[in-house]
Amino acid sequence: MQRREFLTTSLATGAAIATYSLANKANAETAAKPTNAATPAAATVTAGAPVAATGPFVQPPLSYSLGALAPFLKEEQMNYHFNKHHAGYFKKLNTLVEGKPEAKLSLEELILQSQGPIFNNAAQAWNHTFFWNSMSPNGGSNPTGLIAEALQRDFGGIEAFKKAFGEAAINLFGSGWVWLAADKDRKLQILPLPNADNPLKHKLTPLLTLDVWEHSYYIDYRNDRAGYVAGFWSKVNWDFATHNLATMAKT
Ligand code: MN
Repeated sequence: MQRREFLTTSLATGAAIATYSLANKANAETAAKPTNAATPAAATVTAGAPVAATGPFVQPPLSYSLGALAPFLKEEQMNYHFNKHHAGYFKKLNTLVEGKPEAKLSLEELILQSQGPIFNNAAQAWNHTFFWNSMSPNGGSNPTGLIAEALQRDFGGIEAFKKAFGEAAINLFGSGWVWLAADKDRKLQILPLPNADNPLKHKLTPLLTLDVWEHSYYIDYRNDRAGYVAGFWSKVNWDFATHNLATMAKT
């Protein structure tokens, strides 16, 4: 099983298993993996049946219902974001790679090897899946363990980190993503990146991300990006960040 295709971690409660699906290919190898199976019991609504496979890249389903992040993000906001914007990147990517060698690559390989429209759509497809996993209906509590120690060491604590991350998100001009990422020595950094840009392209390991494209908050927050950024902490999934830090390639 490849990490990029299927990441599983135990939640701190021990009561549930969260599936972090970064799967993206419709080939038989991936299709055999239970990327659709581990929907938490709490998710009563089908949040994201994957889009019809009209190409090699398939949008993974959400692991929670579209309304599960309310009041931070309400169902209408998530529906547009997941079913229109995110799905749209997969659709466009499949059109762009049709009949080309790129159709046989993974999203990660496309991110590292391509430029222009293929890069933009592959990275946006990957980034959003990572973003959905960066939030949880059960999120929002303070980090513990490995990630808490790293935040203390590299930012002076959780509150100082939140302040710096929030400022980076508010000040990122135009569209983009703010990332918490780790270098090869596991030192953490905040990385505000424009448009579809991604830490993998900078030889860094992504741990957590916040989408600050206007489409990610405009239905719920209109022009109030700061309100959206503040609300993120109520659903942030520290278990996912901890998992990413704990499992990153050791040097
Ligand atoms: Mn988005």
